[in-house]
Amino acid sequence: MNGYNAGMNAAEPIYLDNNATTPLLPEVADAMREAALRFPANPASQHRLGQATRRALEAARERIAELLGAKTSGLDSDRLVFTSGGTEANNLAILGLLANQQPAHLITAGIEHPSLLGPVADLERHGWQVTRIRASQEGVVDLDELASAFRPDTRLVSIMAANNETGVLQPLREIGALCAEHHVPFHTDATQWVGKLPVCFSGVEQFAALTCTAHKFHGPLGIGALLLRHDITLAPQLHGGHQQGGERPGTESLPLVVGMQTALEAWQRKSAEHAEKIAVLRDSFETTITAAIPRAVVIGKTAPRLPNTSNIAFPGVDRQALFLALDMAGVACSTGSACASGSSEPSPVLLAMGLPPALIEGALRFSFGALNTAAEASAGARRIINSCQHLRR
Ligand code: PLP
Repeated sequence: MNGYNAGMNAAEPIYLDNNATTPLLPEVADAMREAALRFPANPASQHRLGQATRRALEAARERIAELLGAKTSGLDSDRLVFTSGGTEANNLAILGLLANQQPAHLITAGIEHPSLLGPVADLERHGWQVTRIRASQEGVVDLDELASAFRPDTRLVSIMAANNETGVLQPLREIGALCAEHHVPFHTDATQWVGKLPVCFSGVEQFAALTCTAHKFHGPLGIGALLLRHDITLAPQLHGGHQQGGERPGTESLPLVVGMQTALEAWQRKSAEHAEKIAVLRDSFETTITAAIPRAVVIGKTAPRLPNTSNIAFPGVDRQALFLALDMAGVACSTGSACASGSSEPSPVLLAMGLPPALIEGALRFSFGALNTAAEASAGARRIINSCQHLRR
Protein backbone atom coordinates (compact mmCIF):
# COMPACT_ATOMS: atom_id res chain seq x y z
CA MET A 1 0.00 0.00 0.00
CA ASN A 2 2.90 2.38 0.57
CA GLY A 3 6.39 2.89 -0.67
CA TYR A 4 5.94 1.87 -4.31
CA ASN A 5 7.91 4.62 -5.94
CA ALA A 6 8.73 3.04 -9.26
CA GLY A 7 5.41 2.36 -10.98
CA MET A 8 2.90 -0.16 -9.72
CA ASN A 9 1.86 -3.71 -10.38
CA ALA A 10 -1.72 -3.79 -11.68
CA ALA A 11 -2.78 -6.01 -8.77
CA GLU A 12 -1.31 -3.76 -6.08
CA PRO A 13 -4.12 -2.27 -3.94
CA ILE A 14 -4.17 1.51 -3.66
CA TYR A 15 -5.73 2.91 -0.50
CA LEU A 16 -7.47 6.22 -1.20
CA ASP A 17 -9.92 6.15 1.71
CA ASN A 18 -7.96 7.97 4.39
CA ASN A 19 -10.93 10.10 5.48
CA ALA A 20 -12.56 6.84 6.61
CA THR A 21 -9.47 5.78 8.54
CA THR A 22 -5.70 5.93 8.16
CA PRO A 23 -3.11 3.17 8.54
CA LEU A 24 -1.28 3.20 11.89
CA LEU A 25 2.27 4.57 11.63
CA PRO A 26 4.90 2.02 12.72
CA GLU A 27 6.34 4.51 15.25
CA VAL A 28 2.86 4.86 16.77
CA ALA A 29 2.52 1.08 17.12
CA ASP A 30 5.99 0.96 18.75
CA ALA A 31 5.12 3.71 21.25
CA MET A 32 1.84 1.99 22.13
CA ARG A 33 3.53 -1.35 22.67
CA GLU A 34 6.15 0.23 24.89
CA ALA A 35 3.53 2.07 26.97
CA ALA A 36 1.48 -1.12 27.40
CA LEU A 37 4.49 -3.13 28.57
CA ARG A 38 6.05 -0.42 30.72
CA PHE A 39 2.89 0.73 32.50
CA PRO A 40 0.72 -2.31 33.16
CA ALA A 41 -1.35 -0.78 35.98
CA ASN A 42 -4.73 0.91 36.06
CA PRO A 43 -4.13 4.69 36.12
CA ALA A 44 -6.74 4.99 38.90
CA SER A 45 -4.96 2.50 41.20
CA GLN A 46 -3.38 4.01 44.29
CA HIS A 47 -0.19 1.91 44.41
CA ARG A 48 3.03 3.23 42.96
CA LEU A 49 2.60 1.40 39.65
CA GLY A 50 -0.84 2.96 39.29
CA GLN A 51 0.54 6.39 40.15
CA ALA A 52 3.29 6.03 37.55
CA THR A 53 0.69 5.10 34.92
CA ARG A 54 -1.41 8.11 35.95
CA ARG A 55 1.59 10.46 35.62
CA ALA A 56 2.39 9.12 32.14
CA LEU A 57 -1.25 9.50 31.15
CA GLU A 58 -1.54 13.07 32.42
CA ALA A 59 1.73 14.04 30.71
CA ALA A 60 0.38 12.69 27.41
CA ARG A 61 -2.95 14.48 27.94
CA GLU A 62 -1.13 17.77 28.48
CA ARG A 63 1.09 17.26 25.44
CA ILE A 64 -1.90 16.51 23.19
CA ALA A 65 -3.71 19.61 24.48
CA GLU A 66 -0.58 21.65 23.81
CA LEU A 67 -0.28 20.25 20.26
CA LEU A 68 -3.89 21.33 19.68
CA GLY A 69 -3.08 24.86 20.83
CA ALA A 70 -5.02 24.67 24.10
CA LYS A 71 -4.04 26.53 27.28
CA THR A 72 -2.35 24.01 29.55
CA SER A 73 -1.35 26.13 32.55
CA GLY A 74 -2.93 28.65 34.87
CA LEU A 75 -6.41 28.93 36.32
CA ASP A 76 -7.94 29.24 32.88
CA SER A 77 -6.47 25.97 31.52
CA ASP A 78 -8.57 24.20 28.92
CA ARG A 79 -9.65 20.58 29.57
CA LEU A 80 -9.07 17.61 27.31
CA VAL A 81 -11.52 14.77 27.89
CA PHE A 82 -10.64 11.46 26.22
CA THR A 83 -13.45 9.55 24.52
CA SER A 84 -13.65 6.43 22.37
CA GLY A 85 -13.53 8.54 19.18
CA GLY A 86 -15.18 11.33 17.23
CA THR A 87 -18.70 9.91 17.45
CA GLU A 88 -18.62 9.83 21.22
CA ALA A 89 -16.97 13.26 21.44
CA ASN A 90 -19.69 14.78 19.23
CA ASN A 91 -22.43 13.13 21.30
CA LEU A 92 -20.77 14.32 24.50
CA ALA A 93 -20.50 17.85 23.14
CA ILE A 94 -24.11 18.16 22.00
CA LEU A 95 -25.76 16.26 24.83
CA GLY A 96 -23.28 17.19 27.57
CA LEU A 97 -23.38 20.91 26.84
CA LEU A 98 -27.16 21.09 26.45
CA ALA A 99 -28.96 18.12 27.97
CA ASN A 100 -29.46 19.54 31.47
CA GLN A 101 -31.01 22.78 30.20
CA GLN A 102 -34.61 23.63 29.40
CA PRO A 103 -35.24 23.00 25.67
CA ALA A 104 -34.29 26.10 23.68
CA HIS A 105 -32.58 26.68 20.29
CA LEU A 106 -29.36 25.48 18.67
CA ILE A 107 -27.71 26.04 15.33
CA THR A 108 -25.84 23.53 13.21
CA ALA A 109 -25.30 22.87 9.50
CA GLY A 110 -26.94 20.44 7.06
CA ILE A 111 -23.50 19.15 5.95
CA GLU A 112 -22.50 17.82 9.38
CA HIS A 113 -21.45 14.23 10.05
CA PRO A 114 -24.16 11.76 11.23
CA SER A 115 -22.47 11.56 14.65
CA LEU A 116 -23.34 15.23 15.15
CA LEU A 117 -26.73 15.26 13.48
CA GLY A 118 -27.83 12.17 15.47
CA PRO A 119 -27.62 13.75 18.96
CA VAL A 120 -29.04 17.00 17.55
CA ALA A 121 -32.09 15.05 16.28
CA ASP A 122 -32.36 13.45 19.71
CA LEU A 123 -32.55 16.87 21.38
CA GLU A 124 -35.12 17.91 18.79
CA ARG A 125 -37.29 14.98 19.85
CA HIS A 126 -37.05 16.38 23.38
CA GLY A 127 -38.35 19.80 22.44
CA TRP A 128 -35.24 21.65 21.22
CA GLN A 129 -35.56 23.82 18.13
CA VAL A 130 -32.83 23.42 15.55
CA THR A 131 -31.70 25.63 12.68
CA ARG A 132 -29.64 23.76 10.10
CA ILE A 133 -27.66 26.28 8.04
CA ARG A 134 -27.42 25.54 4.33
CA ALA A 135 -24.19 25.30 2.37
CA SER A 136 -23.35 26.71 -1.05
CA GLN A 137 -22.80 24.40 -4.03
CA GLU A 138 -19.09 24.71 -3.18
CA GLY A 139 -19.81 23.25 0.28
CA VAL A 140 -19.30 26.37 2.43
CA VAL A 141 -21.91 27.25 5.07
CA ASP A 142 -23.86 30.42 4.39
CA LEU A 143 -22.63 33.09 6.82
CA ASP A 144 -25.54 35.46 6.13
CA GLU A 145 -27.99 32.70 6.98
CA LEU A 146 -25.99 31.98 10.14
CA ALA A 147 -25.93 35.65 11.15
CA SER A 148 -29.70 35.86 10.97
CA ALA A 149 -30.31 32.50 12.69
CA PHE A 150 -29.29 33.64 16.19
CA ARG A 151 -32.14 34.04 18.69
CA PRO A 152 -32.18 35.21 22.30
CA ASP A 153 -32.55 31.55 23.36
CA THR A 154 -29.78 30.14 21.12
CA ARG A 155 -27.60 27.98 23.41
CA LEU A 156 -25.01 26.49 21.04
CA VAL A 157 -23.58 26.69 17.53
CA SER A 158 -21.97 23.52 16.22
CA ILE A 159 -20.37 23.74 12.79
CA MET A 160 -17.66 21.41 11.54
CA ALA A 161 -14.13 22.56 10.66
CA ALA A 162 -13.62 20.50 7.50
CA ASN A 163 -16.17 18.36 5.72
CA ASN A 164 -15.48 14.63 5.58
CA GLU A 165 -16.86 14.14 2.06
CA THR A 166 -15.63 17.23 0.22
CA GLY A 167 -12.73 18.37 2.43
CA VAL A 168 -14.16 21.91 2.25
CA LEU A 169 -13.00 24.12 5.12
CA GLN A 170 -15.59 26.22 6.88
CA PRO A 171 -15.10 29.93 7.74
CA LEU A 172 -14.37 29.22 11.42
CA ARG A 173 -13.02 32.64 12.26
CA GLU A 174 -16.17 34.37 11.01
CA ILE A 175 -18.41 31.80 12.70
CA GLY A 176 -16.49 32.28 15.97
CA ALA A 177 -16.86 36.06 15.72
CA LEU A 178 -20.63 35.76 15.23
CA CYS A 179 -20.89 33.39 18.20
CA ALA A 180 -18.86 35.77 20.39
CA GLU A 181 -21.03 38.70 19.34
CA HIS A 182 -24.14 36.77 20.43
CA HIS A 183 -22.46 35.21 23.53
CA VAL A 184 -23.18 31.69 22.28
CA PRO A 185 -20.60 28.88 22.72
CA PHE A 186 -19.08 27.51 19.50
CA HIS A 187 -18.37 23.78 19.13
CA THR A 188 -16.57 22.46 16.08
CA ASP A 189 -16.22 18.89 14.86
CA ALA A 190 -12.55 19.02 13.87
CA THR A 191 -12.30 15.29 13.18
CA GLN A 192 -11.06 15.79 9.62
CA TRP A 193 -9.05 18.94 10.38
CA VAL A 194 -6.76 17.82 13.19
CA GLY A 195 -3.64 16.16 11.83
CA LYS A 196 -4.11 17.65 8.37
CA LEU A 197 -3.76 21.40 8.98
CA PRO A 198 -2.52 23.33 12.06
CA VAL A 199 -5.11 23.83 14.79
CA CYS A 200 -5.02 26.38 17.61
CA PHE A 201 -7.87 25.79 20.05
CA SER A 202 -7.26 29.00 21.98
CA GLY A 203 -6.80 31.03 18.81
CA VAL A 204 -8.84 33.46 16.76
CA GLU A 205 -11.79 31.11 16.19
CA GLN A 206 -12.88 31.47 19.84
CA PHE A 207 -13.84 27.81 20.23
CA ALA A 208 -15.70 26.63 23.32
CA ALA A 209 -15.35 22.93 22.41
CA LEU A 210 -13.62 20.86 19.74
CA THR A 211 -13.95 17.21 18.70
CA CYS A 212 -11.09 15.12 17.30
CA THR A 213 -10.21 11.45 16.80
CA ALA A 214 -6.82 9.74 16.45
CA HIS A 215 -7.54 7.25 13.67
CA LYS A 216 -7.92 10.04 11.10
CA PHE A 217 -4.25 11.04 11.48
CA HIS A 218 -2.46 7.68 11.53
CA GLY A 219 -3.13 7.10 15.23
CA PRO A 220 -5.05 4.20 16.79
CA LEU A 221 -8.74 3.45 16.43
CA GLY A 222 -10.73 3.73 19.66
CA ILE A 223 -9.57 7.07 21.02
CA GLY A 224 -10.69 10.63 20.47
CA ALA A 225 -11.12 13.71 22.58
CA LEU A 226 -13.37 16.61 23.38
CA LEU A 227 -11.40 19.74 24.14
CA LEU A 228 -13.24 22.22 26.37
CA ARG A 229 -12.55 25.85 27.17
CA HIS A 230 -11.97 26.39 30.91
CA ASP A 231 -15.34 28.10 31.53
CA ILE A 232 -17.48 25.45 29.81
CA THR A 233 -19.39 22.99 31.99
CA LEU A 234 -20.25 19.56 30.73
CA ALA A 235 -22.88 17.11 31.99
CA PRO A 236 -21.44 13.57 31.81
CA GLN A 237 -23.24 11.15 29.54
CA LEU A 238 -21.78 8.07 31.22
CA HIS A 239 -22.16 7.44 34.94
CA GLY A 240 -20.47 5.33 37.56
CA GLY A 241 -16.87 6.46 37.92
CA HIS A 242 -14.79 9.52 38.72
CA GLN A 243 -12.15 9.27 36.02
CA GLN A 244 -11.56 12.47 34.04
CA GLY A 245 -13.18 14.58 36.76
CA GLY A 246 -16.37 12.53 36.36
CA GLU A 247 -16.94 14.16 32.97
CA ARG A 248 -16.29 10.92 31.12
CA PRO A 249 -15.89 8.04 33.54
CA GLY A 250 -14.25 4.73 32.58
CA THR A 251 -10.67 3.47 32.82
CA GLU A 252 -8.44 5.46 30.48
CA SER A 253 -6.15 3.52 28.13
CA LEU A 254 -2.55 4.73 28.34
CA PRO A 255 -1.46 2.87 25.15
CA LEU A 256 -4.25 4.54 23.16
CA VAL A 257 -3.47 7.96 24.64
CA VAL A 258 0.24 7.54 23.87
CA GLY A 259 -0.66 6.41 20.35
CA MET A 260 -2.70 9.56 19.83
CA GLN A 261 0.12 11.75 21.13
CA THR A 262 2.77 10.04 18.99
CA ALA A 263 0.65 10.33 15.83
CA LEU A 264 0.04 14.04 16.45
CA GLU A 265 3.72 14.64 17.12
CA ALA A 266 4.69 12.73 13.96
CA TRP A 267 2.33 14.91 11.95
CA GLN A 268 3.46 18.13 13.59
CA ARG A 269 7.15 17.46 12.91
CA LYS A 270 6.43 17.53 9.19
CA SER A 271 3.10 19.33 8.99
CA ALA A 272 3.92 21.89 6.28
CA GLU A 273 5.86 19.36 4.21
CA HIS A 274 3.07 16.76 4.56
CA ALA A 275 0.31 19.14 3.54
CA GLU A 276 2.27 20.31 0.53
CA LYS A 277 3.21 16.80 -0.60
CA ILE A 278 -0.35 15.54 -0.29
CA ALA A 279 -1.80 18.56 -2.08
CA VAL A 280 0.60 17.97 -5.00
CA LEU A 281 -0.49 14.30 -5.26
CA ARG A 282 -4.16 15.25 -4.99
CA ASP A 283 -3.91 18.05 -7.57
CA SER A 284 -2.11 15.93 -10.17
CA PHE A 285 -4.61 13.11 -9.55
CA GLU A 286 -7.51 15.52 -10.20
CA THR A 287 -5.87 17.08 -13.26
CA THR A 288 -5.22 13.66 -14.83
CA ILE A 289 -8.79 12.51 -14.26
CA THR A 290 -10.57 15.68 -15.37
CA ALA A 291 -8.41 15.88 -18.51
CA ALA A 292 -9.34 12.32 -19.52
CA ILE A 293 -12.99 12.14 -18.46
CA PRO A 294 -15.23 14.69 -20.14
CA ARG A 295 -17.67 16.35 -17.74
CA ALA A 296 -15.96 15.01 -14.57
CA VAL A 297 -16.34 17.65 -11.86
CA VAL A 298 -14.25 18.15 -8.73
CA ILE A 299 -16.74 19.10 -6.04
CA GLY A 300 -15.73 22.09 -3.91
CA LYS A 301 -12.70 22.77 -6.10
CA THR A 302 -12.82 26.55 -5.81
CA ALA A 303 -13.45 26.56 -2.04
CA PRO A 304 -10.65 26.37 0.54
CA ARG A 305 -10.14 22.62 0.98
CA LEU A 306 -8.14 20.11 2.97
CA PRO A 307 -5.05 19.14 1.00
CA ASN A 308 -5.96 15.44 0.91
CA THR A 309 -9.59 15.18 -0.20
CA SER A 310 -10.95 14.84 -3.69
CA ASN A 311 -14.65 14.36 -4.31
CA ILE A 312 -15.17 13.78 -8.01
CA ALA A 313 -18.50 13.47 -9.81
CA PHE A 314 -18.65 11.44 -13.02
CA PRO A 315 -22.01 12.40 -14.56
CA GLY A 316 -23.63 9.54 -16.46
CA VAL A 317 -21.84 6.93 -14.33
CA ASP A 318 -23.54 5.30 -11.36
CA ARG A 319 -21.34 5.82 -8.29
CA GLN A 320 -22.14 2.40 -6.86
CA ALA A 321 -21.17 0.66 -10.12
CA LEU A 322 -17.96 2.70 -10.35
CA PHE A 323 -17.16 2.03 -6.70
CA LEU A 324 -17.46 -1.74 -7.27
CA ALA A 325 -15.44 -1.59 -10.50
CA LEU A 326 -12.71 0.32 -8.69
CA ASP A 327 -12.72 -2.11 -5.81
CA MET A 328 -12.15 -4.92 -8.33
CA ALA A 329 -9.40 -2.82 -9.94
CA GLY A 330 -7.69 -2.39 -6.55
CA VAL A 331 -8.64 1.20 -5.71
CA ALA A 332 -10.21 1.64 -2.25
CA CYS A 333 -12.35 4.76 -2.13
CA SER A 334 -15.75 5.67 -0.76
CA THR A 335 -19.26 6.55 -1.86
CA GLY A 336 -19.60 8.92 1.11
CA SER A 337 -19.08 8.95 4.85
CA ALA A 338 -17.96 5.55 6.19
CA CYS A 339 -20.83 5.82 8.69
CA ALA A 340 -23.33 6.04 5.84
CA SER A 341 -21.65 3.72 3.33
CA GLY A 342 -23.31 0.43 2.74
CA SER A 343 -26.44 2.47 2.06
CA SER A 344 -27.20 3.30 -1.55
CA GLU A 345 -28.90 6.54 -0.52
CA PRO A 346 -27.44 9.68 -2.09
CA SER A 347 -24.93 11.53 0.06
CA PRO A 348 -26.73 13.80 2.58
CA VAL A 349 -23.77 16.21 2.37
CA LEU A 350 -24.00 16.65 -1.40
CA LEU A 351 -27.78 16.93 -1.12
CA ALA A 352 -27.40 19.64 1.54
CA MET A 353 -25.13 21.51 -0.90
CA GLY A 354 -28.00 21.57 -3.40
CA LEU A 355 -25.97 19.93 -6.18
CA PRO A 356 -27.77 18.65 -9.28
CA PRO A 357 -28.79 14.95 -9.12
CA ALA A 358 -26.47 14.06 -12.05
CA LEU A 359 -23.46 15.07 -9.96
CA ILE A 360 -24.71 13.48 -6.74
CA GLU A 361 -25.46 10.14 -8.44
CA GLY A 362 -21.96 9.90 -9.88
CA ALA A 363 -19.79 11.22 -7.03
CA LEU A 364 -17.02 9.30 -5.26
CA ARG A 365 -14.64 10.41 -2.52
CA PHE A 366 -10.90 9.78 -2.80
CA SER A 367 -8.78 10.74 0.21
CA PHE A 368 -5.00 10.65 0.50
CA GLY A 369 -2.87 10.06 3.58
CA ALA A 370 0.71 10.55 4.70
CA LEU A 371 1.72 7.13 3.32
CA ASN A 372 0.41 7.55 -0.24
CA THR A 373 3.01 7.94 -2.99
CA ALA A 374 3.07 9.77 -6.33
CA ALA A 375 3.09 6.36 -8.05
CA GLU A 376 -0.13 5.44 -6.28
CA ALA A 377 -1.76 8.75 -7.19
CA SER A 378 -0.99 8.32 -10.88
CA ALA A 379 -1.78 4.58 -11.00
CA GLY A 380 -5.00 5.28 -9.09
CA ALA A 381 -5.99 7.97 -11.59
CA ARG A 382 -5.30 5.59 -14.51
CA ARG A 383 -7.42 2.82 -12.98
CA ILE A 384 -10.26 5.28 -12.36
CA ILE A 385 -10.12 6.55 -15.95
CA ASN A 386 -10.15 2.98 -17.34
CA SER A 387 -13.04 1.88 -15.11
CA CYS A 388 -15.04 4.98 -15.89
CA GLN A 389 -14.52 4.67 -19.66
CA HIS A 390 -15.45 1.00 -19.49
CA LEU A 391 -18.71 1.78 -17.62
CA ARG A 392 -19.62 4.61 -19.96
CA ARG A 393 -19.19 2.27 -22.94
N1 PLP B 1 -16.95 13.56 12.43
C1 PLP B 1 -16.45 13.51 11.19
C2 PLP B 1 -16.42 14.76 10.36
C3 PLP B 1 -15.98 12.30 10.66
O1 PLP B 1 -15.49 12.26 9.43
C4 PLP B 1 -16.04 11.14 11.48
C5 PLP B 1 -15.61 9.82 10.96
O2 PLP B 1 -15.73 9.55 9.79
C6 PLP B 1 -16.57 11.25 12.78
C7 PLP B 1 -17.00 12.49 13.22
C8 PLP B 1 -16.66 10.06 13.69
O3 PLP B 1 -15.40 9.72 14.21
P1 PLP B 1 -15.12 8.23 14.78
O4 PLP B 1 -14.99 7.35 13.58
O5 PLP B 1 -13.83 8.38 15.53
O6 PLP B 1 -16.24 7.88 15.65
